[in-house]
Amino acid sequence: MQQPDPKEIMILNRIVVFSVIVLFIIIAAIYLLFVSGKTGQYSDFEDYIFGTYVRIRISSKVNPSTISKAIFNEMKRLEKKFDPYIESSIIYKLNHSEDWVEVDDETLSVIDLALKIARDTEGAFDPALGRLIQLWGFSKFTEREATGTFTVPSASEIAEAASKSGYQKIAIDYVNKKIKTNGAWIDLGGILKGYALKRAYQIAKEFDKSCHGFVETGGQIMILGPKYNKTHWVIGVRDPRGQPGENITIVYLSEGSIATSGDYERFFIVDNVRYHHILDPRTGYPANKAISATVIAGDPVIADAFSTAAFVLGEDRWLFTRTVFPKYGAEVLLVTPKKQLLRTDNFRIYEMSDR
Ligand code: AMP
Ligand code: MG
Repeated sequence: MQQPDPKEIMILNRIVVFSVIVLFIIIAAIYLLFVSGKTGQYSDFEDYIFGTYVRIRISSKVNPSTISKAIFNEMKRLEKKFDPYIESSIIYKLNHSEDWVEVDDETLSVIDLALKIARDTEGAFDPALGRLIQLWGFSKFTEREATGTFTVPSASEIAEAASKSGYQKIAIDYVNKKIKTNGAWIDLGGILKGYALKRAYQIAKEFDKSCHGFVETGGQIMILGPKYNKTHWVIGVRDPRGQPGENITIVYLSEGSIATSGDYERFFIVDNVRYHHILDPRTGYPANKAISATVIAGDPVIADAFSTAAFVLGEDRWLFTRTVFPKYGAEVLLVTPKKQLLRTDNFRIYEMSDR
């Protein structure tokens, strides 16, 4: 009998060891990706995006950390892509071009939707107020807040910026996939978090369609699925003049989204007057006919944009809000400057825990 060649044995041994390592890595990856997340147990994740904390509470058979990372990465992509003050962003390019600018499909559809909501809300929601937002200093809010350098612009500065603003100036060429801003500056601050939450929901469901929990960005929540897959999430609507944690009402949601726009989110005070970040496109000044507006809607983009619009329309144009908004799937709770609560007909349903 021929003795096996010791060199061959060594090579064989190495192949076996290598195969075992590869197999181990594959099994570990499958475990991490699909098995380690246990349904019924929630994991929490947090990151700082869009100038606010984004929180994810999720239960899934897929590793929750994998899903959360994918969501955070997507939100950071959107933040960069749509930030009007980053020179590489498409919004910066649109705002600083005098000509038609070619855009990708996603940009075209987000801007198209923002313009549609502007028309549906008679211009209360206006995605082309960038010049005014910058003039008021809300584009660099965190910086200004840290240095305390807020000033109220003069009436003529406001009139000048307002005359160069407004969604009617934005033109879309659907055939050649181009947009022209005609001097106005696009600012998607009133709709972007809603769009990011829509993407978050899609990503979570692509990983695991039966995952549940919620994603929260500042003043908005998107439900991924009922608590423990069987009961409503209990959500407090903040008292706009109370401390965080003090609520004006409680709602019970197992799907859809809830967004609140309030004058307490980003504001500064000069001579006892509060100036905040939601502007009335008709005047160029902060809207002052409401102190908070909450919208519940299936679609988080609707919840976000319509809450901003309901705030602007305020108590004076409440009849328009309560008549028209539910047609777009938006149920509204408005808090007037005197802290009166106004509700669309179906909002109360969400305040019932036993439905
Ligand atoms: P939100 O917190 O969702 O109500 O959005 C407020 C943000 O939207 C502001 O910080 C601005 O970037 C932008 N914005 C301000 N006023 C308006 C308005 N009337 N329509 C649309 N977006 C606005
Ligand atoms: Mg909004």
